[in-house]
Amino acid sequence: MNVLVINCGSSSLKFQVIDSETEKVEAKGLCERIGIDGNFTYQPAGGEKEESEKPMPTHNEAVSYVIEALTNEKTGVLKSLDEIDCVGHRIVHGGTNLTHSYIITEDVVKEIEDCADLAPLHNTAHVLGIRACQKLMPNVPMAIVCDTAFQQTMPPKAYLYAIPYKYYEEDKVRKYGFHGTSHMFVSQRAIELMGNPDHSKVIVCHLGNGASVSCEVDGKCMENSMGLTPLDGLVMGTRCGDIDASVVEYINKKHGLSVQEILNIFNKESGVYALSDGMSDFRDIAGAAEKGNERAQLALDMFAYRVAKYIGSYVAAMNGVDTICFTAGIGENNGMIRKMICDYLTFLGLELDTEANKVIGDEKLVSTPSSKVKVYVIPTNEELAIARETVALLK
Ligand code: AMP
Repeated sequence: MNVLVINCGSSSLKFQVIDSETEKVEAKGLCERIGIDGNFTYQPAGGEKEESEKPMPTHNEAVSYVIEALTNEKTGVLKSLDEIDCVGHRIVHGGTNLTHSYIITEDVVKEIEDCADLAPLHNTAHVLGIRACQKLMPNVPMAIVCDTAFQQTMPPKAYLYAIPYKYYEEDKVRKYGFHGTSHMFVSQRAIELMGNPDHSKVIVCHLGNGASVSCEVDGKCMENSMGLTPLDGLVMGTRCGDIDASVVEYINKKHGLSVQEILNIFNKESGVYALSDGMSDFRDIAGAAEKGNERAQLALDMFAYRVAKYIGSYVAAMNGVDTICFTAGIGENNGMIRKMICDYLTFLGLELDTEANKVIGDEKLVSTPSSKVKVYVIPTNEELAIARETVALLK
């Protein structure tokens, strides 16, 4: 089956076509600046990457370009639209009602719209993407895979906030956790690598520009460091992570900024970007730290320290850990950060294999044979996870 995987943002649309039998990516690309001036990138497997400016006033035009590129005679990987067997859409927020993956119906679209309050930019864009695909491919079955679904197994003691219960009951204020498709993919792979034991305790560190840690007992998610929104938890590229809510009022009083403005600062101008005085890419920060930039070093130290603290708390929550996994841009590629984190965890009997830890971007066991905790680098693949879920639902 050819699965078209769609990941819509408010002004972007990422796509991949995956052959579900071979799990090979046949083509991939990105529509950017939707609603502005439009930029289209497309790459068939084994072919050249093409980039062109294309007018994209709405997501409808973006999806038209995707289909045109996939089916045209020169660079297309499909003979016609009929060769798209199904479409899998990534959804950021499924709220309390979208607890797993679903075949798209009008009721499902309504649920995505109903929880748009919780992720206004993302969920609104997802619905635009779904509508655009339905318009151009009315007979193709489609599914949604929610980033919050994997975390639905978290127990109330993990997902509730200790505030009046009515905010949970009436307004659905609770921890949802994010990057669930990645945490699911990586933890399932870790369990396979462990030889599919009946019982397992796994921690997954998804360390990218957005970053989160999760823990899974016997494959079921028990904790995720993100909260009602992705702002919570780790120090990230531009997000602050954990913070005392009173800081909002304090800054409001001191600087006269609105709640909206302060949250914008917490989301877009904080994290390692703020700590390092203007760098959010870990390659730049590591380079500056190496040259003696103290603020860059502080950013790296705080990032690693916060991850290690979360891992420690999850070891306590699970009363142990068998395997810790690193994934996403930093987790897969940055051995120095992995080492900084693992250096806090030697009390667990964790021993990092310095040579193996030089790995960049490949799956690898990076702990020593005598380590009491296994440490893996496992590249994440959210698109493949979405394709698998979509096909499983259709079957
Ligand atoms: P993501 O959001 O998963 O794409 O991750 C983005 C982060 O991964 C950025 O901070 C990058 O600096 C980091 N990253 C990506 N590739 C590398 C690499 N080869 N070495 C070190 N860091 C990398």
